Amino acid sequence: MSRINYSSTRDEDTRVSFEEALLTGLAPDGGLYLPQSIPKLTSDYWKSRGTFADLAVNVLGQWLGDEIQPSQLEGIVREALDFPVPLTQLHGAGWEDVFVLELFRGPTHSFKDFGARTMARLMSHFTAARNETVLILVATSGDTGSAVADGFAGQAGIRVALLYPRGQVSPVQERQLIAKRPGVTAFAVDGTFDDCQRMVKGAMAEGSAGGVRVSTANSINIGRLLPQMLYYMWGAQESGCEKPLFCVPSGNLGNLTGGVLASMSGLPVHRFIAAHNANDFFPRFLEDEGTGFSSSVQTLSNAMDVGAPSNFERLRALLPHPDMQSRIHGESVTDEETLACIRRVHEETAFVADPHTAVGLEAVQRFRRQTGDATPAIVLGTAHPAKFPEVVRKALGFEPPEPEELAALRERETQVQSLDPSVESLRRKLAEIA
Ligand SMILES: *Cc1c(COP(=O)(O)O)cnc(C)c1O
Repeated sequence: MSRINYSSTRDEDTRVSFEEALLTGLAPDGGLYLPQSIPKLTSDYWKSRGTFADLAVNVLGQWLGDEIQPSQLEGIVREALDFPVPLTQLHGAGWEDVFVLELFRGPTHSFKDFGARTMARLMSHFTAARNETVLILVATSGDTGSAVADGFAGQAGIRVALLYPRGQVSPVQERQLIAKRPGVTAFAVDGTFDDCQRMVKGAMAEGSAGGVRVSTANSINIGRLLPQMLYYMWGAQESGCEKPLFCVPSGNLGNLTGGVLASMSGLPVHRFIAAHNANDFFPRFLEDEGTGFSSSVQTLSNAMDVGAPSNFERLRALLPHPDMQSRIHGESVTDEETLACIRRVHEETAFVADPHTAVGLEAVQRFRRQTGDATPAIVLGTAHPAKFPEVVRKALGFEPPEPEELAALRERETQVQSLDPSVESLRRKLAEIA
């Protein structure tokens, strides 16, 4: 096996190891890291009938095997991806051959658990070997923060500082963010999400805080993307379909980029649908290459409220425009349509969708109506409906039952500090916790 090098989307001549790409996140020229070569896998890798973790060990072994001992990688992967990944077929008129891949059965009940948990253990592995400590900074408006906090908590050599805008995350999300966890400090910032991001960028620019390396764990990091290939392969094998269509509820386009990497690695995919809410830059771009980013608007599917998707640069480097247009179909779904879809899919199939998954379900139906293409479709279920009880109540008149872990959060000890919206006050705090 030869080593896979990573280069910047802005300079093909950069060459770094996976370890370097993982620990730095962003390339020095501001570009995003992409693999210079992609292992070509055959269907043996995903049709082996083992568990999800077996598939993950096999596939990631081909990507990372020359940088991490196989037995160590296996330990990391089995510990990170130890939760079920069920594929549910919908049954009801109008939903023929539609499946939901439930990626929300991990500890924080969003698909971000896959990337965050795997990445945390990989980072801890490399920093331990270097005898280093790393401080992970995350600005969050919801799901990313809790997946990162949970995934990184208690990992040797890692500390996490989490910033969220006070009063601007949902009650369930806040409970998840401020649950007391080893090595994690949550900060409620008296400001907006943009303030949080600005503060993180400001602190990151220094490279270190209190003498400790700082890094970030958002979806620009290649360490989050590689694990996100795995469930496309798993979903295809569980569906029994040779060449399914995948519909991906999208914001920063990290999830979709994982799917594109899986298909470039050999997984047969009929087509991808990028399902967006009113933040419709990408569907517009697929229609008209001249389209530019816009500022984000608030919607019911708030984890997808992104005006300038950070992984767009990566996707574009992987798939030049004519290819991108033929492989990916874009849709944009309004809040009203999202609520109507939650209602309809519940009436017709009894499935309770969260608002993000509902955007995907609506996009599949629309695609089928427009094209007459009835290829079996796998919609990525990105969050558990109990994370959005207010929206589900609005659509269905009741709140979905809470999974045990979410209910148990009410009893958890909490920990949160207030913070002024300035880089300087963040720096002071970081020096204390580093
Ligand atoms: C983050 C998130 C998305 C969007 O994923 P991207 O990789 O940013 O495109 C969709 N749904 C949920 C529930 C999320 O948390």
